[in-house]
Amino acid sequence: MSNLFQFPDDREASSAAKVRALEALLIEKGVIGSDSVDTVLEHFETMAGPFNGAKIVARAWVDPAFKQRLVADTPAAIAELALPQGMAGAEGEHMAAVANGEDVHNLIICTLCSCYPWPVLGLPPYWYKDPVFRARGVREPRAVLKEFGVEVPAAKDVKVWDSSAQIRWFVVPERPANTGHMSETELAALVTPESMMGVALVAPPASA
Ligand code: FE
Repeated sequence: MSNLFQFPDDREASSAAKVRALEALLIEKGVIGSDSVDTVLEHFETMAGPFNGAKIVARAWVDPAFKQRLVADTPAAIAELALPQGMAGAEGEHMAAVANGEDVHNLIICTLCSCYPWPVLGLPPYWYKDPVFRARGVREPRAVLKEFGVEVPAAKDVKVWDSSAQIRWFVVPERPANTGHMSETELAALVTPESMMGVALVAPPASA
């Protein structure tokens, strides 16, 4: 993870404590039920998350015709796959895929706030909402990508896609070398959320 952003070391712990306090208060006041938060969490663990995006990417890697359809009409191509019901849920409207390749590296961002394709990527990481990332990502994407550990060769274009309530982008990363022997399921296991945001490449399997 990049050191791009300055957050206090106890950020995760203090956020978790605030959430626990807020949840307890909401339950006490009768605003939510005692199992409401668990239900939402379960949705993002089983229905809507990067495990869906990884399956879509792996299919695109093994099936070039599917990849073409995915880029041309993302919702229609996704509908071909047997993915969970959460695919139709919030923040899943108007998703659009862009594919990395020899000539282009894509980066997704939401300059306005934090629009993100929840059904295929899950909930965005906190730094996706950071004003510094949102501003620098469009102003100097190559420098930002380098800080994330992705050095894009000068000959390769960098395209930045601004997600919004109208379109929520995700990236089909490049398939790593030496994966020709791998099954679609094994390939899906290589795909990280960061790679589908464009801030990471997909690493080849450790055994390759
Ligand atoms: Fe947004």
